Amino acid sequence: MHTSVELPAAARRNRMLANLPEADFERLLPNLELVGLALKEALYDANRPIRHVHFVLCGVVSLVTTLEGGAIVETGLVGNEGMVGLPAFLGAMTSPVTAFCQVPGLALRMDAAALREEARGGVALVGVLHRYTQAFLTQLSQSVACNRMHGLRERCARWLLMTHDRAGTDEFSLTHEFLSQMLGVRRAGVTEVLRELRAAGLVRYRQRRLAVVDRPGLKAASCGCYRTIQAEYDRLVGPPQRTGIMRCS
Ligand SMILES: [Zn+2]
Repeated sequence: MHTSVELPAAARRNRMLANLPEADFERLLPNLELVGLALKEALYDANRPIRHVHFVLCGVVSLVTTLEGGAIVETGLVGNEGMVGLPAFLGAMTSPVTAFCQVPGLALRMDAAALREEARGGVALVGVLHRYTQAFLTQLSQSVACNRMHGLRERCARWLLMTHDRAGTDEFSLTHEFLSQMLGVRRAGVTEVLRELRAAGLVRYRQRRLAVVDRPGLKAASCGCYRTIQAEYDRLVGPPQRTGIMRCS
């Protein structure tokens, strides 16, 4: 599929790249390689060197933390608003977090050392990476507050909206077990909330695939944290392009 996509046009599907001045964008292009993101593919592993960064075009990448004892909890997600591999840009090289593909898609892969080299000479690139880092920190801090204070139905609606924004498709595979890991709650609670959202006509769920049916309804069911996070990405990275997100399916 991805071999037929023209690289400069595809690259602009990433909101960070789309907001670079033309000269900076052109200089970066030879370093970018279009790659597919397969379900459950690891983009980097915990405590292992991060050799590549990925500018996501469509699809969703989850950042997960593994606790002592083996429990896995999602602590962040990345789509076409951002780049997977911030620790490599920030000079950390490794992270205790694992990044893996949650919804299949496409990305532009770049050698992490080449990114740091480019960042030394590219003021615009550094600026957009710094602003993205700040927006991502807002996502993390808002999620911490949300998980502490808001109900499971609101949190689940927020997570579904954030995933839907990035998926490039209205329907994606999702098991109750996976969603319980993403939200850090017991499976029984997730089953109950999904049943409620389905009964309200907001989502459809069958054979381990979830479809968003009523986005406005899902927004109404979510807490304000969704809007806060999206507003920061719009303000700091730039709004979604008029062409919309790339369809992955
Ligand atoms: Zn919330």
